[in-house]
Amino acid sequence: MKFNTKLIHGGISEDKETGAVSIPVYRSSTFHQHVVGGEPKWEYSRTGNPTRAALEALVAEIENGTNGFAFASGSAAIHAAFSLFSAGDHIVVGNDVYGGTFRLINKVLKRFGLEFTVVDTRDLKAVESAVQENTKAIYLETPTNPLLHVSDIQAISEIAKRYDLKTIVDNTFATPYNQNPLTLGADIVVHSATKYLGGHSDVVAGLAITNDEKIAQELAFLQNSIGSVLGPDDSWLLMRGIKTLGVRMRVHQENTQIIYDFLRNNDKVANVYYPGNPDSDGYEIAKKQMSGFGAMLSFELKEGLDPKKFVESLKIIDLAESLGGIESLVEIPSVMTHSSIPRDIRLKNGIKDELIRLSVGVEDDSDLIDDLKQAFTQI
Ligand SMILES: *Cc1c(COP(=O)(O)O)cnc(C)c1O
Repeated sequence: MKFNTKLIHGGISEDKETGAVSIPVYRSSTFHQHVVGGEPKWEYSRTGNPTRAALEALVAEIENGTNGFAFASGSAAIHAAFSLFSAGDHIVVGNDVYGGTFRLINKVLKRFGLEFTVVDTRDLKAVESAVQENTKAIYLETPTNPLLHVSDIQAISEIAKRYDLKTIVDNTFATPYNQNPLTLGADIVVHSATKYLGGHSDVVAGLAITNDEKIAQELAFLQNSIGSVLGPDDSWLLMRGIKTLGVRMRVHQENTQIIYDFLRNNDKVANVYYPGNPDSDGYEIAKKQMSGFGAMLSFELKEGLDPKKFVESLKIIDLAESLGGIESLVEIPSVMTHSSIPRDIRLKNGIKDELIRLSVGVEDDSDLIDDLKQAFTQI
C-alpha cells in the first residue's frame, strides 16, 4: 500500500465484530473475563483498549514501524521515551527542541538523575563530540521550531549506531507524510499528534513509534506503568484526523509555498525561514530526507516595524499558539511560545523579538494572501 492508502486502510481498518468501517469507540474501562487466568486479549483499558489499539496499529504502519503507542499528549509520549533511561545515563539533545521538552528535561528529568548535553544537531561534529562514556541516546527535532532548522537524521543515526546509542526523533513538524525517521535509521519517533496528525485543533494526543522489538516491549511496559494513555474517544478522533493527513498536507504545502514566495518578495520582510528556501543551509538535507517542505514558516519584519501590530491586524489568520490545524495560526515566539526562554539565550539561538511564526492552514490561498497584504498596510 502507498502512503495515502495506508492512512485510510492501514492498521485495523474495520471492526471484526460488525464490519463497521469506522472503528467503534470502546468506552469501557474493563472487560469481562470468562474464566480465571484465561489470558484474555482485553482486560483493562490502561493496559489495552481496542480503539486505542486500532490507532496504534495505524500509526505504526504510517511511520514504517512495528509498534505504536498512544499517549495523553506529545509531552507524555516524550516522557515515556526518556523513561527508557535510568539515573546516571546521559542523552545528547538538540538545542532548538520544543520548549516543553526543555522544561521536562531541566525541571523534571534532571531531578531523577538523567544527564543532558545540548548541541546544535545541524553540526555533526558537535553531536559526536558530545557523546561521552555514559551516553545512551541522541534526541532531536527536524525541522525545528520556530527557525525550521534541518538536521541530517541519517548521518546522526549513523553516529548513534557507532556508539551504540538510540536515536529519538520528534517528527511533529515534518509529519510522516514528509519524513519517516525510522526508515532513515532512527529507533524511536515521537509526535505531538495534537498538531498535524489530529489536524483540526480539537484533540491533545501523543505518539511513540518504534521498529525495535525490545524497545517496543519496554515502551508497552512504561505506557502501562506510567499510565498516561490516550482515552478511547480521543483515539477515535485522532484516527479520523489521520485519514485526511494526505489531502490536508497537499493543500497546506501548496499554500505555504505561495505564502513563502509572497513574503520573500515583500520589502517589509527581512528574512523568511522555511526548509524550502533554496538559500537556507538545510535545503539540500531537507530535499534529501523529506518529500515536502511542510507548512510551517517564520519571518522577521524589517527593523522598526511592529510585529505585534502586524499579527493583531490579521483577520482570517488567527493569533494563537499551537500549529498544524486546518486553520492558519500566527504567533510571536519571543512573547508567546518561547517566552519562558531567557531573552539572552533566545537571541543567542537566533529567535529575535521581531520573529513571527506562521502555521499555514488549508483556506483559499488568495484569502490568506489578501489578509497578509492588508496587515502589511497597517504597519
Ligand atoms: C506541541 C509540541 C510538543 C508537545 O506536545 P503536546 O501534545 O502539546 O504535549 C512536542 N514537540 C513539538 C515539536 C511540538 O510542537
